[in-house]
Amino acid sequence: MSTDGRSFKKTTAAALICAVVVFFILSRLLPEKKAEEAQGDYFCLGTVVHLSVYGQGRDFLREELAGLEAEGKRLEELFSANIPDSDIRRASDGRGKWVKVSGETFSLTERAMELSEDTGGAFEPALGRITKLWKIGSDGARVPEEDEIRAALRCCGRRNIALKEEDGAYYIKVTGGALIDLGGIAKGRVADIMMKKLADDGVKSALIDLGGNLAVLGERPGGGKWRLGIQTPERPRGEYFGTVSVSDCSVVTSGAYERYLEKDGVCYHHIFDPATGRPADSDLASVTVIDRDSTRADALSTALFVMGREGAAGYLKEHKDIAAVFLLKGQKRVLVTEAARSVFTLYDKSFSAEDIRGAEE
Ligand code: ADP
Ligand code: MG
Repeated sequence: MSTDGRSFKKTTAAALICAVVVFFILSRLLPEKKAEEAQGDYFCLGTVVHLSVYGQGRDFLREELAGLEAEGKRLEELFSANIPDSDIRRASDGRGKWVKVSGETFSLTERAMELSEDTGGAFEPALGRITKLWKIGSDGARVPEEDEIRAALRCCGRRNIALKEEDGAYYIKVTGGALIDLGGIAKGRVADIMMKKLADDGVKSALIDLGGNLAVLGERPGGGKWRLGIQTPERPRGEYFGTVSVSDCSVVTSGAYERYLEKDGVCYHHIFDPATGRPADSDLASVTVIDRDSTRADALSTALFVMGREGAAGYLKEHKDIAAVFLLKGQKRVLVTEAARSVFTLYDKSFSAEDIRGAEE
């Protein structure tokens, strides 16, 4: 071969190698095709639901949004205590008879029973007679008489709920005049089901906000963890005292400031103490639970609020894996569990944050 031929081959090989290296470097440096976004708002489960999904293809994202909306409505028609024909209403109206329900209603009621037991009854799925009596957050909210509360309380308690699975079908039996109310856990389960649907459909990044029940799928569209705010009670919506940085996770807050009735200068909120049948006299302003399992986060945020600071500290000693952030009532003091320390950041510096264990001593 001539010298010219050899040098031509060498030059071509060198040029090829250079092209590959440049392509490799550029592919690393140039941003990936920017994710598109689709957003939707609608009313479901007694709250405004806000959905944001990110990915490629506007039509695909719009279809996902429509699918989630339909799924939310379908689940509401199973779990709601306010829809006459829902599984939950039919079971409660069954007057001691076994009522056939969907597998989804069965499984959520079963989980609600487990979490009720686990929280020593602070979370109570058979509290419907009390919530219906007060109607806080809906038309006709009122402060009932003491004897009405006592009578309603006698009909509360998970002992009145029985579950059975027979020949692949699911049944619930409600006795003792009890009514099931899954208002403290249903939004969490809906968020879990929606997240699973999105992941199954190949969506990589999404945010679901079910009236303060937040859940995120994957990382932020641009990469990195999502930064979610925790609302400062009694301040305009969107004013946060702290933030939580997470991916593939749920962040659920329960507080006395969301739904309440004010009468004669007293504020009656919608989270009830199953021991008294009255709004929980909690020394907490809000409880935020950070958990991959939104169903658990929802029930626990409600239960820990009912327990109050001391009760919650006792519960957490036995449940060290729980990531939670507590805001003390009437104070700018935040207590953080060990599991939440790495994800929580104090945002409003007029507040102070400390370890819940330290605060207990
Ligand atoms: P929100 O629904 O505002 O996000 P929660 O998750 O704390 O707040 O749920 C409050 C709802 O849960 C009430 O509206 C009522 O339906 C129900 N509930 C109230 N107290 C309890 C309780 N101790 N255990 C279980 N459910 C409760
Ligand atoms: Mg809840």
